[in-house]
Amino acid sequence: MSIEQAIQPKASLQPRSVEGRFRNIKTGILLLGYAVFFLMPWIRWERAVGPDQAILFDIPGRRYYMFDLVMHAQDIFWLTALLFLAAVLLFFVTTLFGRVFCGYFCFQTLWTDAFRWIERWVQGDRVARLRLDKQPWNVEKIRKIGLTHGLWLLLAMWTGLSFALYWGDAFELTAGFFTGTAPSAVYGTVIILMTTTYLTAGWAKEYVCLHMCPYSRFQSVMFDQDTMIVSYDMNRGEGTTGRVKPVKELRDQAFRQEKGHGDCVDCGLCVQVCPTGIDIRNGLQIGCIHCALCIDACDGIMDKQGWKRGLIRYTSEHGLEGKKTKILKLRTVGYGIATLFATIYLVWSIASSKQLEVTAVQIRSPLYVTLSDGRIQNSYEVKINNKTMEAARYTLAIEGLPKAEMELQINDLSVKPDSTLRVLAKVRYTMQPGEAGKNHDFQFRLTPLEGKVKEPVIIPSHFMTP
Ligand code: SF4
Ligand code: SF4
Repeated sequence: MSIEQAIQPKASLQPRSVEGRFRNIKTGILLLGYAVFFLMPWIRWERAVGPDQAILFDIPGRRYYMFDLVMHAQDIFWLTALLFLAAVLLFFVTTLFGRVFCGYFCFQTLWTDAFRWIERWVQGDRVARLRLDKQPWNVEKIRKIGLTHGLWLLLAMWTGLSFALYWGDAFELTAGFFTGTAPSAVYGTVIILMTTTYLTAGWAKEYVCLHMCPYSRFQSVMFDQDTMIVSYDMNRGEGTTGRVKPVKELRDQAFRQEKGHGDCVDCGLCVQVCPTGIDIRNGLQIGCIHCALCIDACDGIMDKQGWKRGLIRYTSEHGLEGKKTKILKLRTVGYGIATLFATIYLVWSIASSKQLEVTAVQIRSPLYVTLSDGRIQNSYEVKINNKTMEAARYTLAIEGLPKAEMELQINDLSVKPDSTLRVLAKVRYTMQPGEAGKNHDFQFRLTPLEGKVKEPVIIPSHFMTP
């Protein structure tokens, strides 16, 4: 794409609305995505302990709540696994179906689509908007443009606020936000997200896909001749003597074929509906986000002509050449296996995460103390993390260190639900002749007396001697 092509048409790009199966799929995904994003913070969830918000990322409390799943700061590697899963899933899907993520799921696509919908609702469809663009500023133009930007700003603000609601109680934060008593971080988040949403979805629009998004740059390396992409069937559309408008006898397909003309009636509708303003008939281009709206547009024209659909369709380069599309390639299988393993690992890791975690860290200054009666004392900080939503009580003992004694800083090892208890344990041992300088392995045994977890936990440790 030349610089002129990239810059010139976009300023007044006014895509036309279109109806069809891919438009319906996109609308369905948009509504579902918006419902999840905007409504989720308002859903309440009963918990024995903790907030009653279904999804809440509680930074000060270092807890992340997702329905019945409570994640702690140390579970952050799940996020890493989730990001890895998202990446390999994206690669897997891209090798199969091209840029479906861009066309259907990307935030930029979803928000630009919603902004375009507002624009259309206020100003009318393509022709009316082009007319409004050209007309001089008057009351009508000021009212329509002003209302469009006002609604854009409102949606952008609600987007920013909805994001902030995931990080605190939704009802309190909203009330605080509108009464000026919310934390400054909320106002900061809303201002930043409102501004970026307004600018990227309202002003930059397709420029983000064309010039700012790195994904559009490197995805081409994931494409091959078997990747299913939105394609114009050049042979069918152009024939041997090119496309031509359906005037007079050229409305008849058989006559067109006789004259060597293809099925493209050069109506330009596929270009008019394109949200990035490209002409798919020029072949695969970096600006194509594979939204498939040009398929809907062209299918409508084919229906009107009474001809077979699919002049523009999802197909591979091999498919266009009349060859068989090979879906299962080595690379696709590799990404598929990586996706499967990442999913299994994440599910297994979450399902098997321990509800009771115990550590015993030896206090190193000093490593040991020689008591007045000759015994050696080592001290340990035992940390009991009760991750269940029930209160629990435990006893702590030592094993593997004959005749040793343990003194605990507190005797009642009761831990509240979803809480941690730290206790100092002093272990005293009488050294036997010849044991000087030898260290001993032993273990702590934490036995639950009350609570959800019933199995004892063994914590291996060392005892140091002079
Ligand atoms: S060319 Fe077709 S699939 Fe590509 S962005 Fe434009 S309308 Fe969407
Ligand atoms: S919509 Fe179909 S018939 Fe019309 S110009 Fe595009 S490819 Fe040709």
